[in-house]
Amino acid sequence: MRRGRVKRAQFTTFPVRAGAAAGVEARLHDNSRILSSPLQILQTVFGYPAFRGRQAEIVDHVVTGGDALVLMPTGGGKSLCYQIPALARQQAGQGVTVVVSPLIALMHDQVGALHEVGVKAAFLNSTLSLEEANEVERKFARGELTLLYAAPERVTTARFLALLDGLHQKGQVALFAIDEAHCVSQWGHDFRPEYRGLALLHTRYAGVPRIALTATADATTRADIVQHLQLEDAGQFVSSFDRPNIRYTIAEKKEATQQLLRFIEREHAGEAGIVYCQSRKRVEEIAEILCREGMDALPYHAGLDASVRQRHQDRFLRDEGVVMTATIAFGMGIDKPDVRFVAHLDLPKNIEGYYQETGRGGRDGLPSDAWMAYGLQDVVNQRRMIDESPAPEEFKQVLRGKLDALLALAEATDCRRVRLLAYFGEPSQPCGNCDNCLQPPAVWDGTEAARMLLSTIYRVQQVNGLHFGAGHIMDILRGKDTEKVRQFGHQKLSTFGIGAQFSEQQLRGVLRQLIATQALAVDASSYNTLHLTAASRAVLKGEQQVQLRESINQPAGRARRERGSGRATPAVAAALDGQAQQRFAALKAWRTEVAKAHNLPAYVIFHDATLAAIAALDPRELRALEGVSGIGAKKLETYGPGVMDVLQALA
Ligand code: ADP
Ligand code: ZN
Repeated sequence: MRRGRVKRAQFTTFPVRAGAAAGVEARLHDNSRILSSPLQILQTVFGYPAFRGRQAEIVDHVVTGGDALVLMPTGGGKSLCYQIPALARQQAGQGVTVVVSPLIALMHDQVGALHEVGVKAAFLNSTLSLEEANEVERKFARGELTLLYAAPERVTTARFLALLDGLHQKGQVALFAIDEAHCVSQWGHDFRPEYRGLALLHTRYAGVPRIALTATADATTRADIVQHLQLEDAGQFVSSFDRPNIRYTIAEKKEATQQLLRFIEREHAGEAGIVYCQSRKRVEEIAEILCREGMDALPYHAGLDASVRQRHQDRFLRDEGVVMTATIAFGMGIDKPDVRFVAHLDLPKNIEGYYQETGRGGRDGLPSDAWMAYGLQDVVNQRRMIDESPAPEEFKQVLRGKLDALLALAEATDCRRVRLLAYFGEPSQPCGNCDNCLQPPAVWDGTEAARMLLSTIYRVQQVNGLHFGAGHIMDILRGKDTEKVRQFGHQKLSTFGIGAQFSEQQLRGVLRQLIATQALAVDASSYNTLHLTAASRAVLKGEQQVQLRESINQPAGRARRERGSGRATPAVAAALDGQAQQRFAALKAWRTEVAKAHNLPAYVIFHDATLAAIAALDPRELRALEGVSGIGAKKLETYGPGVMDVLQALA
């Protein structure tokens, strides 16, 4: 019996690229002969030349039976951290890996992508018929799968546990991978109570390694994951959270819709993107407007029928250049690599959410934009939502702290990335790829204006014991003769007209920052009136400075065109010469056909970057395709001849 005794030291090495498709395949699936090292698996199965970041360490740790908690930004390459150990451990005779994933709607594509590279995987979820589910269970029980994907509520059923028990008794449970592990935490934004039940995997199957993965990294959530999944002894692998290819821009909100249209038209015409809005109604409105402007936009929110949501998600994944207009109900687990922009028309709730959402852009490593429009109303709305929520005060305090951090980011006049990374505990230097780095904003000192505003609010309250909203306060300060001013005799206030030199926009900016820093409160239950707070005093007394960015009216989007990618030319193809462009286009057309035939998104067949590399290489023989990143043994065998046909037809 060789099985079970095989240790890592016995991994043999062989020149990876020397073996062409079929031979390598045979070796991979015959675990009684030669074992491949993780790197060989990466190269032959997935077709990637090298591990990224901490992948190699993580894979080694898990292959040798260690528990791991992996924190990696979206697009960092988490999947390979359990897929490669799954393959390696199965080769070593250790059985099947169970992947717990909350994303039923995406399991089909995930498993499809594994089939494409020749890995035996399946999923168990409610979309399967009883017969199909039985068939999967049979294969699973017989140890015929390398990976099985299932939702947490399924994994903890008596039926499933019985299957696991059977395999475990034979030493045939290789690994548990718990994806989107932050779902276990109530502080995370995707709390799923079922996740708490997964601690059982540890107690019941002690000795089976577990790997928990997430892209949400703040300390509270991390501690929750460790506690609830009993990962106290797990190795923690925290990657850098930087996503250098994403450019962060936070624009001052004026006419949000127009700003959005300009942004998309100038920088991302014809490209895939996501537009996040707060309400369902707004999602629908914006989708309609984008469609009217000739874009291929679709709405997505929890109020739509499940079948409509699924259809829209499929279109987004499968077709090119679709813009998804969505609430935060959309996006978790979306692994479409070529999302070129993520726009926020409304302020998210906290930095974790913002970072996850923006992280859905540019998973392929190519330039992408995270663009947000932010204004006074956003601050008011978010504060109100917290105040009005029925949550206990202690909980609200946490939410307020998180919102404050996000507001500080939005108000920042220095590098956005430095602030984002600092929030996740990572020190860094100014990035050169955010709005503030690219065009350092002119800053003006709003301290005087802030004091004037606060003392006006103080005085009107003293005079009539009444509170007023922002518009009226600004009118008083700017000395406007309105009906309301006369009605309350506010032209007699000592602050009347003393702020005439400030524009309304400037004052709005000051108010926004005062509210953002809680030096001013808004009472949403009474016409959004303004109230002084404990923190107002420091500003009134001139002890606290108010620094504001000079409002720039310059349209967004110069930078991207300077980078040389013009309209409708995908970023990745921009570097190709004329003939290579032609080959790229032909390869894409071929890919569309193949993807349709396989009922999978195009990027599961090949990424744009892989097609662009082929187009640039213009290989004359099949073997030349072997070194291209993204072409493993199985894909070479399945698609190599088709690719060569496309190229030959053009030659
Ligand atoms: P995550 O789950 O962390 O968001 P994925 O696992 O979906 O990220 O990986 C993001 C993309 O990066 C995928 O398209 C994947 O194929 C690719 N990728 C991952 N690891 C590597 C690697 N070592 N070399 C090249 N591409 C990689
Ligand atoms: Zn920067």
